[in-house]
Amino acid sequence: MKESVLSIKNLRKEYICGRSWLQETETFAAVRDVSFELYQGETLGLVGESGCGKSTLAKMIVKLVKPNAGEIYFEGQNILDMKEKKFRCLRPYIQLIGQNPFGSMDPRKKLIDTLSEGIRCHHISTNGKSLRGYLEEILRSCELQPEFLDRYPCEFSGGQLQRLAIARALALRPRVLVADEIVSALDVSVQGQILELLMKQKTERNMSLIFITHDLSVVRKISDRILVMKDGKILDEGSPEYIFEKSECLYTRKLKEAMITFPY
Ligand code: ADP
Ligand code: MG
Repeated sequence: MKESVLSIKNLRKEYICGRSWLQETETFAAVRDVSFELYQGETLGLVGESGCGKSTLAKMIVKLVKPNAGEIYFEGQNILDMKEKKFRCLRPYIQLIGQNPFGSMDPRKKLIDTLSEGIRCHHISTNGKSLRGYLEEILRSCELQPEFLDRYPCEFSGGQLQRLAIARALALRPRVLVADEIVSALDVSVQGQILELLMKQKTERNMSLIFITHDLSVVRKISDRILVMKDGKILDEGSPEYIFEKSECLYTRKLKEAMITFPY
């Protein structure tokens, strides 16, 4: 039997979108009754058009956004019910990497300081090495030069920054990685290199991956299973073969057609 690492049950998130003159709060449901499992070692692709609720879902999984309803189990433990103090021990194990690595790094800090923060805060073991030695090894495994640790974020290209963001997450030895549109802002040749790095690290470190994108051709390449999301709901689910060859879901077919008729 496949072992479930993450179990998402009936997750819902409503945002307040305004107040009427009667002082009644108007809400908008960005994620509606989403349930799925992530299995050990799996790459789960989550695909859907912009605004369908992917990032909201990603942020709920790492407890950056609080759901209005639903449950999240990480390795059998209900993390939404958990007090923040107890969850702090689990936080390193579920890491989110976002689309904008520059925005996620303090521009005034050298990379060594940014990458050290999480390790110190969560008391991560550096395998008997100095903190710098440990980080240098992670940078090398992400095909980055160890000297980069002494530089500032503004000194890097988009692709290098995304590699550094991956390195920062890996330094915490996560078991689940949530990658939210991490190649969407990069040009196609760099996209391929970053995807290759991500998949190599995922296999070597035996992690499970939720790969989020609006691009069906990217999920097709790397996913074991694909979820198709629209207007806050999961409309379709299956292996890449099923999604691309057998699915009769109208929305999946529409996404596929958009992919084929893309103008270049
Ligand atoms: P995606 O990542 O698929 O593009 P998001 O989860 O970012 O979708 O957004 C889903 C919907 O929720 C969008 O309509 C967006 O405008 C809205 N939304 C996202 N974050 C907030 C927020 N903090 N407050 C209000 N509405 C939000
Ligand atoms: Mg998003």
